[in-house]
Amino acid sequence: MIKIGVLGAGGRMGQAIIAEVLTAPDCWLVGGVERAGHPICGSVIGEGLVVGANAAPVAHKADVLIDFTSPAALEENLRAALDGGAAILVGTTGLAPEHHAAIDNAAKSIAVLQAANTSLGVTVLAAMVEQASRALDTTWDIEIVELHHRHKVDAPSGTALFLAEAAARGRGLPLSELRLPPHDAQSGVRRAGGIGLAALRGGSVAGDHKVILAGDGERIELGHVAEGRDIFARGAVKAARWLAGLDPGRYTMADMFRTAG
Ligand code: NAD
Repeated sequence: MIKIGVLGAGGRMGQAIIAEVLTAPDCWLVGGVERAGHPICGSVIGEGLVVGANAAPVAHKADVLIDFTSPAALEENLRAALDGGAAILVGTTGLAPEHHAAIDNAAKSIAVLQAANTSLGVTVLAAMVEQASRALDTTWDIEIVELHHRHKVDAPSGTALFLAEAAARGRGLPLSELRLPPHDAQSGVRRAGGIGLAALRGGSVAGDHKVILAGDGERIELGHVAEGRDIFARGAVKAARWLAGLDPGRYTMADMFRTAG
C-alpha cells in the first residue's frame, strides 16, 4: 500500500485527488492538510481522518505528499516532506525561480516530482511541440493560447509555460531569451523566433491549450483539452505510486510515464 497525504485537501484539485486515492485499491490516504480557517479544516475525510492545518504530522505518516496548494505554501510543504522523509509531488503552478531553487535543494535529500500538468496528454503534447519546434526554422512563429476557469489566479498557466519551454528547447535556447511581451496596443512588429503566450479566463473550463506554429501560407496547431480534473488527479496518483521509494532527485512526468508506462 502506498501511503499518501494530500496538501490543499479542500481545493478543487485536492478534492479530485482524495477521490482518486480513496478508490485506488493500492493507495491509503493517511492525511489531508488545509489552511487554518478553511471550512474543511477539522472535518473528517476517508476512514476517520481529520483534516489538519499542519503538514508535518502527515509527512511523518506518508510515503508521498501530493501538493496542490499555492506558491506561498511551497516552502513549508517541502520542509515537512524533508523532516518526515516523504517524497513529494508538487502540482502547484505560478512558481517563481526561488521556488524552483527550493525544489532543487529539497531534491538533494528526497524524491521530488514537479509538474505544471500531471496529465498524460500534456506530457505527450510537450514532446510533440519540442519536435515540431526543432523541425521548423524561425520563419515559423510560435504562439500559445490557453483558456481556464474564472477562479484561476496565475497567468499564463503553468502548462502554457511548460509548453513554451518545450518549444524553446526545440529552438535550442532558454525561454527567457525567446518569450515575447504580450501583443497589446502599439507593441510593434513580431520578433522573429520569439514565442508568444496569451491567457483567457472564464466559466468552469478545466484547461484548454493550443500551440500554433504559423509559417508563411500554412500553420500547424497542436492542442489539448482537459475535460475534467480527474485526468490531473489520475496522473498525480500514478506519479505518487512511482515516486514512493525512489532515490532523492528531481523528476518529471515524462520520466514517470517513460518508466512506469
Ligand atoms: P484551489 O484554490 O481550489 O485549491 C488550493 C487549496 O490549497 C485551497 O483549498 C487552499 O485553501 C489550500 N491551501 C493554500 N495554502 C495552503 C497551505 N499553506 N496549507 C494547506 N492548504 C493550503 O486551487 P486548485 O484549482 O485546486 O489548484 C491548486 C494549484 O494546482 C494551482 O496552483 C493550480 O494552478 C494547480 N493545478 C495544477 C495542475 C497540474 O496538473 N499540475 C492541474 C490543475 C491545477
